[in-house]
Amino acid sequence: MPALEARELYRFFHSGDEEVMALRGAGVILDEGEMVALVGPSGSGKSTLLMCLAGLDEPDGGEVIVGGERMTRRDERTKARLRSRTMGIMLQTNNLFPHLRIDANIRLAQDLVGMKDVVWAEALLQRMGIGSRRGAAPAQLSGGERARAALAVALACKPKLLILDEPTGEVDAPAEKAILKLLEEHCRGGGSIIVATHNAAVAHAANRVIPMVDGRLIHA
Ligand code: ADP
Ligand code: MG
Repeated sequence: MPALEARELYRFFHSGDEEVMALRGAGVILDEGEMVALVGPSGSGKSTLLMCLAGLDEPDGGEVIVGGERMTRRDERTKARLRSRTMGIMLQTNNLFPHLRIDANIRLAQDLVGMKDVVWAEALLQRMGIGSRRGAAPAQLSGGERARAALAVALACKPKLLILDEPTGEVDAPAEKAILKLLEEHCRGGGSIIVATHNAAVAHAANRVIPMVDGRLIHA
């Protein structure tokens, strides 16, 4: 069974008289243990696609199936349950609770699925290089630190599937290396990743690089 299957996704946005077709028949199948990188110009639909895959946006047409369960056209509760059971998500909309310290954000992510793994939470803080910032609130972090904290939260529950939007956008070279290592470990353990990226090293680490143009994925 694929980790993720998206078929013929369409998404239209209306602004005034204009209609934007952000997705026009986008589809992708992601196998277990596989990392797929989405590359493409700004505005090509990458973020919209990832939002739809995560069930945080509802496509106007098409279907998303996660670990054998349909994500599209389900009620919010079912989608939330499916999400927390199977996915770690880091999108451009922040996944950090602003009133909670960074370590509490990681703990909360685990609590929400009834998990308690202090060793893993601590390892994530250290490996992301934010151990000394554990007591800070998200607003007190730099952009790069916040991105690393967001990734730690996405990985906190050891999800099967990671959905990541530009995870290395604001980080420096050592952090980029630490992130790549975590992503590679995730896949070696049988997990899957779909990641939108402009980063050459991330694309290089992927099993497949799929260009996105005008709301469609261009499969080789
Ligand atoms: P990318 O992530 O590849 O840069 P996006 O998915 O963010 O592309 O955007 C694809 C297109 O959809 C763009 O033209 C963008 O302006 C439009 N779009 C995205 N989200 C919205 C929204 N909520 N309302 C209106 N237009 C949107
Ligand atoms: Mg984007």
